[in-house]
Amino acid sequence: MALPPAPFPPIRQPEIKYTQLFINNEFIDAVSGKTFPVYNPATEQKIADVSEGDKADVDKAVNAAKAAFEFGSPWQQMDASGRGRLLLKLADLIDRDAVYLSSLETFDNGKIFKESVYVDLFGSSAVLRYYAGWCDKIQGKTVPIDGNFFCYTRREPVGICGQIIPWNFPMPMMMWKIGPALACGNVVVLKPAEQTPLNALYIASLIKEAGFPPGVVNVIPGYGPTAGAAITNHPDINKIAFTGSTETGKLIMKTAADTMKRVTLELGGKCPVVVFDDFEDIDKAVEIAHQAVYFAAGQCCAAGSRTYVHEAIYDEFVKKTVERARNRPVGDPFNDDIEMGPQIDSAQFDKILNMVESGKKEGAVLECGGKRHGTTGYFIEPTVFSNVTENMRICREEIFGPVQTVMKFSTLEEVIKKANDSCYGLAAGILTGSIDKALQFTSRVKAGTVWVNWYNFLTSQTPYGGFKESGIGRELGEDAINAYTENKTVTIKTSSKF
Ligand code: ADP
Repeated sequence: MALPPAPFPPIRQPEIKYTQLFINNEFIDAVSGKTFPVYNPATEQKIADVSEGDKADVDKAVNAAKAAFEFGSPWQQMDASGRGRLLLKLADLIDRDAVYLSSLETFDNGKIFKESVYVDLFGSSAVLRYYAGWCDKIQGKTVPIDGNFFCYTRREPVGICGQIIPWNFPMPMMMWKIGPALACGNVVVLKPAEQTPLNALYIASLIKEAGFPPGVVNVIPGYGPTAGAAITNHPDINKIAFTGSTETGKLIMKTAADTMKRVTLELGGKCPVVVFDDFEDIDKAVEIAHQAVYFAAGQCCAAGSRTYVHEAIYDEFVKKTVERARNRPVGDPFNDDIEMGPQIDSAQFDKILNMVESGKKEGAVLECGGKRHGTTGYFIEPTVFSNVTENMRICREEIFGPVQTVMKFSTLEEVIKKANDSCYGLAAGILTGSIDKALQFTSRVKAGTVWVNWYNFLTSQTPYGGFKESGIGRELGEDAINAYTENKTVTIKTSSKF
C-alpha cells in the first residue's frame, strides 16, 4: 500500500509564476490591491504574496462568468464534443507540466512528493479525461406521456457555479469541481483555500492555454469569510460546490438557502475501519489500517481514524500498529524515503496536539507519538492511542491529523452499532475473510463509501460523498453530471400522437 518511488525527481524550489486573480482569462490584481502571504508548511517560510480577492473581485468574476454563459457566446455555442476536446487538452497540459505541478503541490501543501505525483497529479488528469468523455453523452429522454403531446427532457447546465475548495488535495479538489461543471457546459468562479492557492493559479494559465473562452473559469484566491462568503451570498450564482469542514458547510448551506442555490457539500468524517480476526493476515491488516489514517498526514476527510479490532487479536494488533507507526519516517516531503510531511499550518498543528492532550486526560493510553517532530515545520509524530472508548473526544471528533485510535469489539452487531455511532458518515472499511460479515456491514453501515479488504481507493467513475453530517449530494461519476445539470421537461401540443 505504500507508494512506489516517484517516477521523476522533484523541483525543490519551484518558481512561482502566478500570484494574481484570474478573471476573464487575465491575471489581475485585487480591486483592493491587497495580498496575503502563503507559507511552506515544511519550513514555515513564506513562498509568495498572493492577491487577496474579496466581494468586489467576486462581482467582477461573476460578471465575466455571466457573459461567458450568455446565449450566443462562444462557450454556449460550442459543440459538446468541443468541450470534451478542451478538457482532454487541459489534462494533457497538466501531464506535460507534471514535474512542476507535483513539486508545487508539495511545496505549498507539504504532502510527500510521491503522493503529489501519484494521487494529486495523476488523479487530476484522470478526472478531466473521465469528464471529457461525458460531454457529448449527456442526454435527455423522450417520454410517452398521455394525450396528444410530444414530450422530451433536456439536461441543461445549472449556470454559474461557485466552487470553494480546501487545502488538503489542492489539485484534485479543483478537478473534481471544474471537471463535471465544464463537461455540462457551466461556468465557474472558484476559490482555492487560502493556504494553497498556487497550483489553482498555475492551472488557470493552462485553462487559458488549452483554449477555454474568457470567463468560463475564474479563480479568486482569498479568505473564507470574505471571498468565500461573497461567493455563497452572490445572487447570480446558481450552484455552490463546497469541500471543507462540516461547520463551514452548515454555514454555506444556510446562506445558499436565501437564493435557493443548488448545493453539493463534501464535509468532515470520522471513519471506522473494522478488523476481524478472520482477515487473511494480521500484518496486512495493520498496514491497511495504518495507511488509512496516516495517508496525507491524516488530513483526509475519509481518514480511517477509528480502528475497531476484534478482541481475539486486539493486543497483538496494537503492538504491531505501534511498531508500524514508530517506523513511519517523518520529515522533508521532497525526500523519497519520507512517508509523512507536516500538517498544513500552525492552527491545525495546535488543534491536533490539543486533541492528543484531551485523549490523555480522558484516560486513553498514548502508545506512541503525541508530540511535535523536529523544531521547524508543522510536523507531528505518528500517534497511536489504545483503550479508547466511544465517549472520548478523540473517538467522536474529527482530528484531521496523524492520530490513530484503536478500540476493541467482540461481535459484528456491536461493531456495526459503534461504527454508526457518529454524526458523520463519509466512508468505512471492513477487513474480514467472511463474505457474510462483509455484506452485513456494507449494507448496514451509514457511510457513502465502503471498502472491503482495502481502504482509501477513489476513482473518477464512482460517486463520492457522505451520509449524515458528512455532506449533501455526490461528486464524481455520473452523479456529478446530475448535480451540475437541471433536468427540463418540454411538452409540445400536437394534433395527434406521433
Ligand atoms: P478547513 O478546516 O479544511 O480549512 P474550512 O471549511 O475552513 O475547512 O475551509 C475550506 C474552504 O472553505 C476554504 O477555501 C476556506 O477559505 C473556505 N471558507 C471558510 N469559511 C468560509 C465561509 N464562511 N464562507 C465560504 N467559504 C469559507
